[in-house]
Amino acid sequence: MTAFIRRYFLLLVASTIVVTLLGYVAVRFLQSRSTSLNRTARLMNFLRNPQDHSDWALSAGTRCGTAPFVFPTNGYIGFIWDDSFRPGHRHQGIDVFGGQAQNTTPILAAYPGYLSRLPDWKSTVIIRVPNDPLQPDRQIWTYYTHMADEQGNSFISTNFPPGTSEVYVEAGTLLGYQGNFSGSPGNPTGIHLHFSIVLDDGQGKFLNELEITNTLDPSPYFSLKLNANTNQSSIPFCPSE
Ligand SMILES: [Zn+2]
Repeated sequence: MTAFIRRYFLLLVASTIVVTLLGYVAVRFLQSRSTSLNRTARLMNFLRNPQDHSDWALSAGTRCGTAPFVFPTNGYIGFIWDDSFRPGHRHQGIDVFGGQAQNTTPILAAYPGYLSRLPDWKSTVIIRVPNDPLQPDRQIWTYYTHMADEQGNSFISTNFPPGTSEVYVEAGTLLGYQGNFSGSPGNPTGIHLHFSIVLDDGQGKFLNELEITNTLDPSPYFSLKLNANTNQSSIPFCPSE
């Protein structure tokens, strides 16, 4: 091999490596973007014609195998834990879209516990679970929101008025109905339930639900693939289905 050919060969090898690495980085970047875009596209499909996609939906009160939690509402799981809607954003829970008018699709407690509704909460309840079924030495909280219309008129059950504190509820208790209140009047979020599992601060209070690090991957609580890092695009169903 002449020196020229050897140099040419080394250059070819080096550029092949660089191109491969760049390609890998680009594919990973596009994959993470496309994960949420895939789910957005399929959600649009579902919402255009929910009755044509009833096989994508799960039912309120059903349980996958021996999972500790029952499914809290009827509908299609449009977004899952750690989906990203915009750069830097990480979704802290699951979004379940009933595909019906607001104030129609019931929302049930996923697990027993002690329900509270702060005096200024229009669309949200939180349930204290003293013993995490998967880690009984800690307390966790289950959080349910968007139970009001776009102006903040509540769809929460009248059994739980604002200021309700520590009322015991069984799994399956009716909490309210799916709505689209985003927290700011006139800025609807689309009719769905946002559900999340929130960590305790160790002093008996729930942490800020808006931070994903204060929430738990709900997958093992429902036996459903609800983690966007490991579920790129499949529709969550019970494992046996
Ligand atoms: Zn959500």
